[in-house]
Amino acid sequence: MAVTRFAVVVATVLSMPAAAWAQRSEPDPTPAGGPWFGLRLPPRPGDAPAVRVGRRPPRPVALPPGEPASPDLSAARIKADLDRIVGFATEARELGEQGSRQMWGRVAGFPSAANTTAWAAEEFRNAGISDVRVQPIAQDARASFWMPLAWELRLLGDSSFGEGTADVVLESALPLAPSNIPDGSLTAPLVYVGAASPAVSKHIDVKGKIAVQLVVPQGHMLFERQAVDTRAEDLVKRGAVGVLNLVRLPGNERARDFSNCGNPCFNIGGRDGHFLEQVLDRAAVAGVGDRVRARITLAATTRTGLKAENAVAVIKGRQAGAIVLNAHVDGWFDGAGDNADGLAVLMALARHFGRPEHHLERTLVLVASAGHHTPGINGPRSFVVANPDLAREAVLLVNIEHVAQRNFSPARTTAPDGYREAVADSGEAPIAVGVTNNSPFLQALIDDGPARYGVNFISERSTFQSGETGGWSSLSVAKVSVMQAPPLYHTTGEVLDVISQPGLERIARFLAHLVRQADTARPRSINP
Ligand SMILES: [Zn+2]
Repeated sequence: MAVTRFAVVVATVLSMPAAAWAQRSEPDPTPAGGPWFGLRLPPRPGDAPAVRVGRRPPRPVALPPGEPASPDLSAARIKADLDRIVGFATEARELGEQGSRQMWGRVAGFPSAANTTAWAAEEFRNAGISDVRVQPIAQDARASFWMPLAWELRLLGDSSFGEGTADVVLESALPLAPSNIPDGSLTAPLVYVGAASPAVSKHIDVKGKIAVQLVVPQGHMLFERQAVDTRAEDLVKRGAVGVLNLVRLPGNERARDFSNCGNPCFNIGGRDGHFLEQVLDRAAVAGVGDRVRARITLAATTRTGLKAENAVAVIKGRQAGAIVLNAHVDGWFDGAGDNADGLAVLMALARHFGRPEHHLERTLVLVASAGHHTPGINGPRSFVVANPDLAREAVLLVNIEHVAQRNFSPARTTAPDGYREAVADSGEAPIAVGVTNNSPFLQALIDDGPARYGVNFISERSTFQSGETGGWSSLSVAKVSVMQAPPLYHTTGEVLDVISQPGLERIARFLAHLVRQADTARPRSINP
């Protein structure tokens, strides 16, 4: 990609939103028959939070009788680390590490993740742990990291949509890997295909058009990947020049999920999608459906040869066997829930077990992992290669991943544009707990968690393993994953406000308890 074109696109993109926003400050309510069929324009970024978080706080922590106070595991202490970890992402955004500030995160292979890992290593040392290793990882030579640098999705105004209809930029649009527009810009009419199920889409001509498909996640976007990707690919095979996934999630957030469909593919946030659906409906009713058009610009690049690190802390025990605790450092956007909360809990456990009075019988290994988001970089796999002795000694692996996000329900009232928002309640989002070997001893400890610490574990036992736990597959021991799958996962909505402070303490105390119990358990109990 020529640098000059990137510079031009960035300059254009950065100057465009101001114009688009200016037209959004018209007096409300917009009179019927005004621009865009009299519809209210979607909120601009930062104008409305992804979910409403009221003043009523989450349930406080209730400790089991006899549980000693432990300042290292207190909500306030863990929250201070959470703030710091999210700060590495927001600093990278300010610096434009990923291009035009439309995309950011703690990205393995870039300073944002490297700084987080260096901080974790320093905090391990501050916890009194003398054996701290910062271990380099080189990106697999066969892999490349696709990186969108700057983009814009502009709905083109047309006088037939109402007097004064000017272009609207859908700010929540996010291109999917590895979208590419050879000339950098594409203009085409839009065609709505609903859920794009074969029964519907066979009746719709998408040739030369940008297909707009509706995605209504029942939970995690992850669960929709198969259907969304397959249907998008099918639309492209049938001639669509691009696909927009209207992801009906809370707020108007950018969502980093789903893959490309063979042509430029974008996710669109909830409220932008709501607006676009209404525009397409009104245009169809008015007989001007074929005049709804969009212009997409995109500058992207691919990176190879990236480098990252794991930070590993080892607290040597007196007995054989090692317990390994893992949390991934990387995350998209602020990533307060994926995985700043998990990493903050790992650091709390390092401080707690770093104290001589809390040392275990077995060796404790804490891994601030480079994670699994960047293709060709995998923290767990690199750990196993770099530390064969510790890997051999392991009796238990615990992966701490997405653990303290608040729970949201659909709000009783709708937003002014008619979109139903979500509101936080007094608890945390459900946490699934996987135990790969289904050890009855571990499962019983987990069954006990809700009563003992108030953690919101789902009611079913499971043997699932998360994406990060997958990297540990070569360890043939019990692998425990604690993981939430809330709707804001991988979106710009995963900010500090949606994390439950008491939730941080609940899961930290539960995990400290699990580690203490596993420390003195017979090896056959953990790995029957
Ligand atoms: Zn994660």
